[in-house]
Amino acid sequence: MAKFIFVTGGVTSSLGKGIIAASLAKLLQARGLRATIQKFDPYINVDPGTLNPYEHGECFVTEDGAETDLDLGHYERFLNIYTTQANNVTTGRIYQTVINKEREGAYLGKTVQVVPHITDEIKRRMLLLGKGDKYDVVLTEIGGTVGDIESLPFIEAVRQLQWELPEEDCLVVHLTLIPYLKAAKELKTKPTQHSVKLMSENGVHPDILVCRTEEPLNNEIKRKIAQFCNVKQEAVIEAADAATIYEVPLLMMREKLDQICMKKLNLVQTQEPELTKWKAFLDKLKYPKSKVTIGLIGKYIELQDAYKSILESFIHAGAINECKVQVVNVHSEFITAENVEEKLQGLDGLLVAPGFGHRGIEGKIIAVQYARENGLPFFGICLGMQMAVIEYARNILGYTDAHSTEMDEKTQHPVINMMEEQKKIKMKGGTMRLGAYPCEIKEGSLAHRIYEATLISERHRHRYEFNNDYQEQFEQAGMLMSGLNPETGLVEIIELPNHPFFVGVQYHPELKSTVENPAPLFVHFVAAAKKYNEHRDVIKKPVLHGEMI
Ligand code: GLN
Repeated sequence: MAKFIFVTGGVTSSLGKGIIAASLAKLLQARGLRATIQKFDPYINVDPGTLNPYEHGECFVTEDGAETDLDLGHYERFLNIYTTQANNVTTGRIYQTVINKEREGAYLGKTVQVVPHITDEIKRRMLLLGKGDKYDVVLTEIGGTVGDIESLPFIEAVRQLQWELPEEDCLVVHLTLIPYLKAAKELKTKPTQHSVKLMSENGVHPDILVCRTEEPLNNEIKRKIAQFCNVKQEAVIEAADAATIYEVPLLMMREKLDQICMKKLNLVQTQEPELTKWKAFLDKLKYPKSKVTIGLIGKYIELQDAYKSILESFIHAGAINECKVQVVNVHSEFITAENVEEKLQGLDGLLVAPGFGHRGIEGKIIAVQYARENGLPFFGICLGMQMAVIEYARNILGYTDAHSTEMDEKTQHPVINMMEEQKKIKMKGGTMRLGAYPCEIKEGSLAHRIYEATLISERHRHRYEFNNDYQEQFEQAGMLMSGLNPETGLVEIIELPNHPFFVGVQYHPELKSTVENPAPLFVHFVAAAKKYNEHRDVIKKPVLHGEMI
């Protein structure tokens, strides 16, 4: 059986519990321990797949096709491991399991209650990844903030596990905030005291406090926090604001968070954290030699979290290219044939993001046309690839009404069509084409040079696809379908051989980009943008059309 670390949050949301949990797991992994992380979310949706990105940011998809919380993306990017459906559990999923069991008669006539039935199911799932000698340590991040009504069953489950498991097998890390009051020039510990008190009322006493703060915590403050929250002073960890999330593992190492956890868990591990690759990445990230500007066209561009994995992939790909990637928002709703040049000027590359629905579609198509005709590096992901196909059909094949049946069911030229197996599906949750599928790459194509392989596997999340009735026409007109699903023939990659970099993919390469293994398509897209930047002969003007994100 593995050891368990529970990470809870107090005072306020958005303190970065996911990053703290991922950083701690990274340090334990770097010390030679097998670590994984799971997230328990208190909301009632069975998974975040049905949530609007405005509500919950990006929906991260795992290899096994689970639609999960975006924190799982951080876990994978930090740890360079795959997570699964088991790594993300919501209240909805817990209740669904319990209610299904009740309908089967599994409770033998008992009254089914939050305690013990819901909490038992939470505990069962909390322990699941720790079985079978796969991991030495399982970290569990509890979503939400302590004190929320909906978090209570999770805290109760942690309380019971603390009581059931041997003392050295389980610990609780509580993330909290120490606000700095400018007027009083003082750091304030009271909210933390209240938050710990709230947890104690629920029977859980944190072993370690990780304190987010804008100002350094001196020994006096640490002592005060320790004394009033009843933890050892060495267990009060300062978590200062960092320039990048990738620096947090090093900050936590300096604060000895990993060592304190290991001591409490009785984990004897002499190896110092092996972070050579991580530090090399950070060095490159901090001291870039060049800079490119990439325009991101999407529906939710004002919301950072909606394209989390794409933005992180650019950070990984930028570092390896020793190049700062500035991503600017481009609002496609306001792009017209008349202003497209002005809107896209100053860009070194254009990325059309994944998405659903009508909004801004025509502007996207105009932007793709501009990139295609002007040799501007173009990268289309999922919906972005579909836009590139529609643009080509309209402007090269001459099918002026070409469209996706997602936006226009009656089009005469449905170049993007709903997949056959999708047509019968009525339920929305978990029913898209999800998770990893193989893709066979044509030799001699750009995709082949990028991946240096003929068989790859990437993750999916979509209902529509390229309509293969048109494949021949597209290829005759110069678009190469360079990646196909070997079993179904579904088009996975399109490219234009007579363009410096024009690639569209039906899958989501951003979901597999990690610090140690940046996604090859992003790496080459940034390299192409660098080249474009170096070689263009016009004097660039500052980018005025979007805010930096
Ligand atoms: N809406 C498109 C589809 O369902 C694209 C989805 C996406 O970009 N993830 O096929």
